[in-house]
Amino acid sequence: MRTRVAALALALALPALAATAQAKVSVQKLAEGIWAAQPDKGANVGWFLYGDGVVAVDSGGDAATAKEILRQIAETTGGKPVRYVVLTHAHADHTTGVRAFIAAGAQPICHEHAAPSILSYITQASNDPTDPLSGKRGISPTLITISERLILVDGLRRAEIQWLGPAHTTGDLVVLLPAEKVLFAGDLASNGRLPDLHLPDADAASWAKTLPRLAAAPIEKMVPGHGTIGPTTGIADTLAYIKRLNEIVQKIIRSGVPEEYVEVRLREAENRIPNVPMSEAHMKNALAVYHREKDRLTKPAVTPAPAARKTPRKSVS
Ligand SMILES: [Zn+2]
Repeated sequence: MRTRVAALALALALPALAATAQAKVSVQKLAEGIWAAQPDKGANVGWFLYGDGVVAVDSGGDAATAKEILRQIAETTGGKPVRYVVLTHAHADHTTGVRAFIAAGAQPICHEHAAPSILSYITQASNDPTDPLSGKRGISPTLITISERLILVDGLRRAEIQWLGPAHTTGDLVVLLPAEKVLFAGDLASNGRLPDLHLPDADAASWAKTLPRLAAAPIEKMVPGHGTIGPTTGIADTLAYIKRLNEIVQKIIRSGVPEEYVEVRLREAENRIPNVPMSEAHMKNALAVYHREKDRLTKPAVTPAPAARKTPRKSVS
């Protein structure tokens, strides 16, 4: 009976504990004025000194994590204000904390393709009293958007914010600090995690073209969206996985295997990828590549449209 009462008391206490649980964030210094953090939930976050303030890269996957990161930013930088927060793409595990960053005075920056969903999130009204923007009258959040490249320079540091083409999403940004050889990669490359080729707006073929450009960049330390902070091996690992999976799936398609047998073929020794377990993520990736390749192969060839008749340009004189 005592056990049942104790269990009931624990069950009643759990929601309260969950509600007040503080986010855990493990911070490391990468170079002078540059830090990164791995929260216990959501994506990694980075920040660096810029001018009289700070630039953050990604915002945490929830308000509690964002608040803890802002606390860590203040602690590591001696209380400097966050001027900008670069959102590497629109996924919630990178952007949900942006409302806390805006409440702290930061200006969000994202790719133009990611802007509509981020803007609708940051401008939505909230009646939640714990929401960082609730009750903040007079705040009308705005976004700075990038098409291909934005360079931040302050005389000491140069930060290159770049879009390399469709990859994990259509609007991925990376942030390169070339002098310090640090890359904030977003979800273009992870350490110890498979790329999500199965997400609706992932483009595996284009993704494979972006990674050699990252590999050629002068990088010694990488802050990936997920996984261990520091090693740059995730770039080559991600590229090798995408290329090898594509080769395997092409071979499976050429042998005329229907969808229901794709998994069986993937389990054959010749189609196994070293260090890649037969996980659900791997299977979903393989099926996504299978469907996209099948669609591409069965699409009717596009016949070129007849050349448009030239209309004479109007004189402006
Ligand atoms: Zn993502």
